[in-house]
Amino acid sequence: MSTRIVDLRSDTVTRPTPAMYVAMQSAPLGDDVLGDDPTVIELEAESARIMGKEAALFVPSGSMGNQICLAVQTQPGEAALFEDEAHMIYYEAGAPAVIAQVICRTVIGKNGVMDPNKLEQKISKGSVHTPRTAIICVENTHNRAGGAVIPMDMLRAYRHIADRNEVKLHMDGARVFNASAALGIDVKEIADQCDTMSFCLSKALGSPVGSVIVGNQEFITKARLWRKRLGGGMRQSGILAACGLVSLRQMRERLPEDHMRATKLAIMLSELPGLRVDLEQQHTNFVMVEVEKPADFWIEKLAKENVLAMAFNSNLLRLITHYDIYDEDIENAFISFNKIIQRLV
Ligand SMILES: *Cc1c(COP(=O)(O)O)cnc(C)c1O
Repeated sequence: MSTRIVDLRSDTVTRPTPAMYVAMQSAPLGDDVLGDDPTVIELEAESARIMGKEAALFVPSGSMGNQICLAVQTQPGEAALFEDEAHMIYYEAGAPAVIAQVICRTVIGKNGVMDPNKLEQKISKGSVHTPRTAIICVENTHNRAGGAVIPMDMLRAYRHIADRNEVKLHMDGARVFNASAALGIDVKEIADQCDTMSFCLSKALGSPVGSVIVGNQEFITKARLWRKRLGGGMRQSGILAACGLVSLRQMRERLPEDHMRATKLAIMLSELPGLRVDLEQQHTNFVMVEVEKPADFWIEKLAKENVLAMAFNSNLLRLITHYDIYDEDIENAFISFNKIIQRLV
């Protein structure tokens, strides 16, 4: 057994890189609530440029970013449309009910992707009886669907539906750089289909804290007010934005490495008895493993082997690769799975 912890629970577990520590030490700082932290301003400008949008806003978390986007683009009592297991309604503590105060309607997707016809059927123009649908929210890559990527033709279909029905299109792009890497396209092409988007610096890109939201200038002005309202106005936050700049400049190009390691692990695990991995759904840095024994049994046994994983439901494990997972960690994770299976037979 290796003494090194192989932490596959999430790509949020990474520590700042050496380059981030250097950047934090030398970053010029100011008071960002007063609008004069040069490093935050630089991060926002660079984010807007990368996404091809007018403006950007640095926020403390992906959840806050998403919920600000929802609050700015809806009125209380309106409806918002989501895929059934979207992070914004599944993992953000019921925020749409509390902050934007919208009715959440959902479409059950296949691998995180909603059928455009089913989606359009759920849109309401609004009447004395029915709440108007104000926004469609999509997730790319889709967390609960195992890091699934939305194909570009689908995304374009959602855009057409949004235009035709005069509703907004928001993307929860926590891992949108994984999507662009998997599709082999510039992330701008993805952002171009959306009115607003949030993306995480603290997921696959290794920053300790922070997300960014992008959109047009009018949207960002309103978003800034909502960020303050929610307690997300930060002072010398350039110290965090400095890490974000390293994420954007140095950490994006290595994402295919994470995808390759995830695929390698998926293939190896798919050959073990008692485990099932759908290799057709293997596109990004997630490995979803169906297990015969209860997921909690596996989590416990794996932890004893210094391999950390997450239970996604009673018979599903989620493993995620990131910059702190090396080739030998993949080998060791496989060896641990194999060892546990050998003991079972
Ligand atoms: C992680 C994640 C978020 C944001 O999470 P925070 O922990 O609030 O930063 C949003 N959407 C998806 C799909 C995520 O995976």
